[in-house]
Amino acid sequence: MADDDAGAAGGGGASRAARGAASADASAAGAAPVREAADVVIVGAGLTGAAAAWRLAQAGRDVLVLERDVPAGRLGSSHGSARILRYGYADGFYTSLLRRAEGGWRELERASGRRLVTRTGCVDFGPERRIAPVARAFAAEGLEHEVLAPQEAAARWPGISFDSAALFQPDAGVLDAEGTVAALLDAARSLGARVLTGWEAASVRERAAGYEVLARDGRRAEAGRVVVAAGGWLPGLLRELPLADGCLERLPPLRVMQESAFHFPYREPGATPAGLPGPPAAPPGGAISGAAPSDAAASEADAPDEAAVWPTFIHMGSGLPVYGLPGGRDAGHRGQKVARFNAGRPLADASEQDLAVTQGQRRDVVDFVRERMPGLVPEPYAETTCLFTNTPNEDFVLDRWGGVVIASPCSGHGGKFAPLLGELIRDLALPEEPARGLAAVPERFQPWHGSLLEHDGGVS
Ligand SMILES: Cc1cc2nc3c(=O)[nH]c(=O)nc-3n(C[C@H](O)[C@H](O)[C@H](O)COP(=O)(O)OP(=O)(O)OC[C@H]3O[C@@H](n4cnc5c(N)ncnc54)[C@H](O)[C@@H]3O)c2cc1C
Repeated sequence: MADDDAGAAGGGGASRAARGAASADASAAGAAPVREAADVVIVGAGLTGAAAAWRLAQAGRDVLVLERDVPAGRLGSSHGSARILRYGYADGFYTSLLRRAEGGWRELERASGRRLVTRTGCVDFGPERRIAPVARAFAAEGLEHEVLAPQEAAARWPGISFDSAALFQPDAGVLDAEGTVAALLDAARSLGARVLTGWEAASVRERAAGYEVLARDGRRAEAGRVVVAAGGWLPGLLRELPLADGCLERLPPLRVMQESAFHFPYREPGATPAGLPGPPAAPPGGAISGAAPSDAAASEADAPDEAAVWPTFIHMGSGLPVYGLPGGRDAGHRGQKVARFNAGRPLADASEQDLAVTQGQRRDVVDFVRERMPGLVPEPYAETTCLFTNTPNEDFVLDRWGGVVIASPCSGHGGKFAPLLGELIRDLALPEEPARGLAAVPERFQPWHGSLLEHDGGVS
């Protein structure tokens, strides 16, 4: 049953609100489903779809978001309060891509009056962590960074046991994924966008004057352009999209993984090297803002914050990498979220997920914490699952066929680019706009318009 929030005030005019109210009334009355209409229909209200909604509404388009569940729902990839925002990639392409996203984060924090990114810094270490190329990427982007000997690093972060030199980058931090989805959709709604929840798109058909999105229960939505940002459900939806022969073959294989993550309590919550009560304020013009722009953010900033003591981290040793970050709201502000990257269960499609964490997954991360994190109690007090939608080289897929845009920017590292991804999707969806079109979208993301990069190692 669709919940329609098209009544929101601001841009978009009465017709949209009237249409929204009509659809809710009609379906409530059991009448034939109302046919929705918009300039652009977006399938999926995770970080990607919500960012696209914001940017397309800013471009003055009538935007309708269709979400099968709820925005940033528990079954997708964008739920929860904590994702790492880091610049530390051996492939400098992603370091500079995040530089391009910085303005968008500041703009969204200003627009929402919320702090969405808390700066904690990120420390990369481990015998397999190739520090040099990452440090080069930092230098190329003029990003502050330090290489510390294991003893120096241990002195700065006594809660972590270092098995190698460490590379520290102070502008990195923790982004509030769920809070960002809410901020993006609020901003889009204030410009007239509508969000229908409980609306599962089953297929997209090309029509004389555009496209029609059909729900399993017969509801329809018409639009000139369609953006498919369906996360882990994309593999199952691809064959229901109006793509030319050969398109699917040119797409990189998408592999959905049910990942797990755990929260471990800090042994000494609240103790910080500098005795700071909360996160340090960002220097003006810093990479990504840390300054609380409003009262709401100020009250959130005053929440006990372990971020000042505990950085985010990436450890590369034997086996798959392990990452960790202050868990924030999800962790009751009293623990670190720790997980092994890509160690989850492969799924054919998101609909196969069972939200179950295996004993093996839990034991593996507990062993890591016991060995490497003396500042944490190696007994998780909370755990969760979440979906990765991977490509073989961890590059994103952002491309357009006719008026249908496919957006799959995940591989476990897409969240930090959200505000920029919204811009790139807008540019793909509105190619007629002079300064837009394909040019702004990195070719390596475009299987149909760019040259697919042969990549053996993935994006580390
Ligand atoms: C455990 C974990 C840790 C991560 N850590 C980081 C990190 O540290 N840093 C980082 O940058 N990124 C990280 N990521 C990646 C980041 O979270 C994802 O890239 C991002 O959330 C992807 O958002 P999305 O909108 O593409 O997908 P989703 O959030 O899954 O959104 C897709 C939406 O589409 C809806 N939908 C699907 N099919 C349909 C349909 N047919 N009709 C209507 N609606 C539909 C779904 O319900 C869902 O809400 C992590 C991800 C996970 C899982």
